[in-house]
Amino acid sequence: MKIERIETLVCHARMRNWIFVKVVTDQPGLVGWGEATLEWHTRSVVGAIEDISQLLVGQDPTRIEYLWQMMWRQHFWHGNGIVRGTAIAGIDLALWDILGKVANLPCHRLWGGPVRDYIRLYCHLGGGKMEDFYNTPIDEAARFGDLAQAAVENGYSAFKSMAVPATAPIEGTKPIRAAEACVAAMKDAVGDDVDIMVDCHARPSPAMGMQFAKALEPYDLYFFEEPCWPEQVDSLAAINAAVRTPIATGERLTHLAAFKELFDKRGCEICQLDITHCGGLSEARRIAALAESHRIALAPHNPQGPISTSASIEFGFSQPSYIICESVNNDVPWRYDVVTEGYVTDESNRTVRPSDKPGLGVEVNEEEIKKHPFEQELPQRQFYADGSVGDW
Ligand SMILES: [Mg+2]
Repeated sequence: MKIERIETLVCHARMRNWIFVKVVTDQPGLVGWGEATLEWHTRSVVGAIEDISQLLVGQDPTRIEYLWQMMWRQHFWHGNGIVRGTAIAGIDLALWDILGKVANLPCHRLWGGPVRDYIRLYCHLGGGKMEDFYNTPIDEAARFGDLAQAAVENGYSAFKSMAVPATAPIEGTKPIRAAEACVAAMKDAVGDDVDIMVDCHARPSPAMGMQFAKALEPYDLYFFEEPCWPEQVDSLAAINAAVRTPIATGERLTHLAAFKELFDKRGCEICQLDITHCGGLSEARRIAALAESHRIALAPHNPQGPISTSASIEFGFSQPSYIICESVNNDVPWRYDVVTEGYVTDESNRTVRPSDKPGLGVEVNEEEIKKHPFEQELPQRQFYADGSVGDW
């Protein structure tokens, strides 16, 4: 069996362009599907996949590790940057999909079979509607409470909010009090039995991240995400050590050695590797093994499209320390017209049962994708009060 060609299909889904990767083999009808979505880098990733194709066409698609080593090492520049890492990931997912189809097994059964009966999903406030999650003003605490209530009414037992504003390196206590009011409103709305997460989007400096973490500690968040830049591993470790709230991070790391530093310094309790950016399922399995040795939990980053979600679910059914799956379902109304997923969701409590379909279990409707061609993503930019540049 040989790889004949690698195609990319770009599908504009409002905030993101989903980049679907199709690895076509010389066996009639046998293709693998992956996803390599990277917002604001769509053309770069599509180009990187085209560059990598040169290494893979003509090769046996079931030699996944061999091909992964080629993609990582054989263009001299190791594949550890975000664009190359995402391109490798999209292809790697498709190769695992092919291997599952050849074996007629879902991917999680290739990796030892299911380690749990179900996986819990969490949502973003607004269910994936960009404006609700990213743009609800921090001074509208009651709105946070309303959106939290809506998430629970939709069956979710856990949700994530962006209740920490863009903040200058040092900014006094006003943003701290605003964040606290938002979290208090959410807690009041849903009670103690629902898990609340706060994502700082690495907006704060280490000093402000520490203040936010300490102010929100009494609310017993399920996790507190990216309290400072991912490059500041020592500061992540200091915050993680200072509060009982588990710190989560890892979505912007793209290779094993970066995770090793994060884990060695105990920069988090929850590793949010992104399967579509960190070199795919092949590298994700190595990162998971490393995390396991530190007893660090896994909750992969997954605000992207439906093939990314399927990959996260397949991975989760094979990983003992996987705790919850990030999910988006309200980004575009035609999400499920484009891709049919193999796993089964119980909408009453937003849990997922394993797929029995081979590979990643997805069916892709290429005609539907064509209805949503590439559009430039709208920028989401932050500036501080004095006009200086902030982090989104
Ligand atoms: Mg995040």
